[in-house]
Amino acid sequence: MKTVTIKDKEFSISISAEKIQEAVANVAEQINWDLAGKDPLFLVVLNGAFMFAADLMRHVTIPCEITFIKLSSYEGTQSTGVVKEIFGLNESVAGRTVVVVEDIVDTGITMERIVGSLREKGASDIRVATFFLKPDSLKRDVPLNYVALRIPNQFIVGYGLDYDGYGRNLKEIYTLQSKSSEEIK
Ligand code: 5GP
Ligand code: MG
Repeated sequence: MKTVTIKDKEFSISISAEKIQEAVANVAEQINWDLAGKDPLFLVVLNGAFMFAADLMRHVTIPCEITFIKLSSYEGTQSTGVVKEIFGLNESVAGRTVVVVEDIVDTGITMERIVGSLREKGASDIRVATFFLKPDSLKRDVPLNYVALRIPNQFIVGYGLDYDGYGRNLKEIYTLQSKSSEEIK
């Protein structure tokens, strides 16, 4: 099986590039259907969603705008639970259909924060397009309109997602190897 080592950790391939591309195309198809005539603003959450967003937007055929925001909540492989400031949203969202584009919704804390902030700023229709959802780890009630793939509660890298800054460039998804029985003593 194909594996990669990033810093101190070993990951093995779990989702192929082909499967990823198929899932992206499915999400785009739903968006093209649902949001035709709504002039949506796509709000891409950096850094993790850059690859999903670039692939998704190539399949979105309706008139739309795209902008980027930045924040982070992870250190290493564990959620810190602390969501840092959102910055970079200069466009007015008042009265608009906004589609938040995320790499992954885990606990949902990050998304709750983003959706709350968009609501405060007066967006009229807030939708979420996330590439991954970890349903077993979801703790918050957030809109999840477009979910490309549902995955178990394990740490992954690739397709925009990093481990300590590395692995974002991988075109497949790799899952953290659980420790071998020799290591657990
Ligand atoms: P949440 O606030 O939903 O718990 O976490 C969302 C953020 O945590 C995501 O945007 C992503 O940056 C990070 N995250 C959650 N799960 C994973 C994972 O398995 N791998 C990586 N690399 N990041 C993750
Ligand atoms: Mg993210």
